[in-house]
Amino acid sequence: MAEDTLSQRWERVRAGVAAACRQAGRDPSEVTILPVSKTHPVDVIEQALALGLQRLGENRVQEIRDKAAALPDRGIEWVVIGHLQTNKAKYVAQLAREVQSLDRLDLAEALQRRLDMEQRELDVLVQVKTSPEPSKYGLPPEDLLDFLEKIREFPCLHVRGLMTMAIQSDDETPVRACFRMLRELRDRAQAAGHDLPRLSMGMSGDFALAIDEGSTEVRIGTAIFGTRAAG
Ligand SMILES: *Cc1c(COP(=O)(O)O)cnc(C)c1O
Repeated sequence: MAEDTLSQRWERVRAGVAAACRQAGRDPSEVTILPVSKTHPVDVIEQALALGLQRLGENRVQEIRDKAAALPDRGIEWVVIGHLQTNKAKYVAQLAREVQSLDRLDLAEALQRRLDMEQRELDVLVQVKTSPEPSKYGLPPEDLLDFLEKIREFPCLHVRGLMTMAIQSDDETPVRACFRMLRELRDRAQAAGHDLPRLSMGMSGDFALAIDEGSTEVRIGTAIFGTRAAG
C-alpha cells in the first residue's frame, strides 16, 4: 500500500469523526479534533500548519520547547496532554495555550505561581483516572469535587472541563465504562455548580466510543501523523 499523505489521513480522520457523530445522533460541530504531534519532527509540524492545524497536542515539555524554538511566531497553540512534573511549570506558563493533564494540587499551585509571574492565564482540563491500569495518570474520581473547589482560588487557571485516557482493551465494554465515568463525574460536578463544558476523551483507537459517550474533543495522534517510533 502506498504511503498516505498527511492531508489524506487528516481528511479521513475528519470523516471518521463526523461519521461517529452521526452514528451517535450528534452534530459533528460538537466534537473538536486535537491533532497530537508528539514525537513527530518539525517538518511534519510544518505540513500540519500548511493544512491549517495550529492547535497541537504534545506530551513532553522539552519537546514543546524545542519545537516552539524552531517554529517561532507561527501562531501554534501548544496543548499539554502528558504527565507534567511540577518543575516544568515555568515553561508551561511561558509556552502552553492549555493544559489537559492537570491532576494534582501541587501542580496547580506551581502553574498558578508561574502564570502570575508571566502575567498569563491558562485554560485547563482536569485529568481523571478512570482506568485501573497503574500506567494511567489522573486525579482519583472521588477527589474531583474537592479539587475543583480548591482550584477555584487560582485566578490564572480556568478549568474548562475534564480529560481522561480509557483503559487499553480490545473489549469495548471497559473502554466505554471509562468514558461514561468521566461524563457522569462531569454531570455531578456541574450539578454542584462547576461549569465544565468540555470532555476530552477518545484517541485514534477508541474515538467512536468516546463520541458516543459524549466526548467534545478527541485527541488523535497515530491516525493523523502515522505510527510513532518506539521509545
Ligand atoms: C499520545 C496520546 C494521544 C494520541 O494517541 P493516538 O493513539 O496516537 O491517537 C492522546 N492522548 C494522550 C494523553 C496521549 O498521550
